[in-house]
Amino acid sequence: MGLIAAAVPFFLLSILVEWLWGRWRGRDTYRLTDAVSSLTLGGLSQARRFVALGVGGSVYAWLASITPFTTWSAEGGWAWLLAFVLYDLCYYCSHRAGHEIKLFWAAHVVHHQSEDYNLSTALRQTSSGFLFGWIFYTPMFFIGVPAEMMVTVGALNLIYQFWVHTEHVGELGWFEYVFVSPSNHRVHHARNARYLDRNYGGVFIVWDRLFGSYQRELASEPCVYGITKPIRSWSPVESWVHVYRDMFNDMRQTSNWAERLWVPFSHPGWQPSDVAAARPLSEGDELPFEKYDPQVSVARKVSGAANLALITVLLILAQRSEILRGYEAYVWALMLWFGVGNAALLSNAESRLFRFQEGVKLIALAVLAGLLSLPLALVITPLALIGVSWQLFERESKEVAGATS
Ligand SMILES: [Zn+2]
Ligand SMILES: [Zn+2]
Repeated sequence: MGLIAAAVPFFLLSILVEWLWGRWRGRDTYRLTDAVSSLTLGGLSQARRFVALGVGGSVYAWLASITPFTTWSAEGGWAWLLAFVLYDLCYYCSHRAGHEIKLFWAAHVVHHQSEDYNLSTALRQTSSGFLFGWIFYTPMFFIGVPAEMMVTVGALNLIYQFWVHTEHVGELGWFEYVFVSPSNHRVHHARNARYLDRNYGGVFIVWDRLFGSYQRELASEPCVYGITKPIRSWSPVESWVHVYRDMFNDMRQTSNWAERLWVPFSHPGWQPSDVAAARPLSEGDELPFEKYDPQVSVARKVSGAANLALITVLLILAQRSEILRGYEAYVWALMLWFGVGNAALLSNAESRLFRFQEGVKLIALAVLAGLLSLPLALVITPLALIGVSWQLFERESKEVAGATS
């Protein structure tokens, strides 16, 4: 089991603790709808491995075979420390490109769509980062860092980044000069014009101070979270594709060939001049900013949470269950199906397609429950039934409301 999978129970427990702490202090930073959306995207990003191999793997192997440097020994502590620091420098470059080059932003944007800032935001991860993200780590293989060392320091880097996604920790004195902290990472997630494209470090904020991308959090300018062109949807598919789609539309619509070819490499805020004249993008902190916040019934919230639990159970089963070995791609598809349906549920959607989706979900689960052992079926079935029951509860409460009005 990988380090990240092992850390998941700790992540989920910390989310619960942060939520309870916030409620106790009278400063709840969670909305169920937003947290469900973030955690669904996190689960799907983990399951992504079921459907595609890392594109970079063969390039890494090739680089390791042609390098004039000898492979590092994984024995010495210094080698680990150096690999950890170098990984963070590569992460800085990758992350900076992820914000300043449209093709890379299209993948990384998923992490920034939440308009809340809490520990669930940390788990909101891209599923298309594997396409190009590996490019930035190739130097490490060239200088001889062994693959196992690379995987371990990469996982540690990601795990470190979890705790900084909170509003409950203020500035931390000297720590702010060396490490990525809740305060300087809040700035990174803010859509205020002053805070855009700042603080890219993963573990060390030193890189930002060195390369001129540091910005301190200012008491006079509270962070407003989210992206400058909000997606206003909980759908994982919309989260994944919207920047790619805008990019292709810009390329299709412009009549200038040089600008067309430049689009993927441009800054995310840039558009071809003729397209920008016709439909300009919004820039920075237009205020007042209203969060995307469809109000949904308690029945839908309970069902949404149950559906998220189902997605999580499916992910765990696909990783652990012998019975599902070889069927991982189907599990990924099922998780996506549930995720899309759940997003519609939490946006107050009413459609025939949605009912069809719920029907397919129940059939798929019945098949799965038949395949699995009895104890697992006993976990899945109640969750599925809670997930569907919103239709009954909600209709009933509407009828009551209709009868009393
Ligand atoms: Zn970022
Ligand atoms: Zn973040």
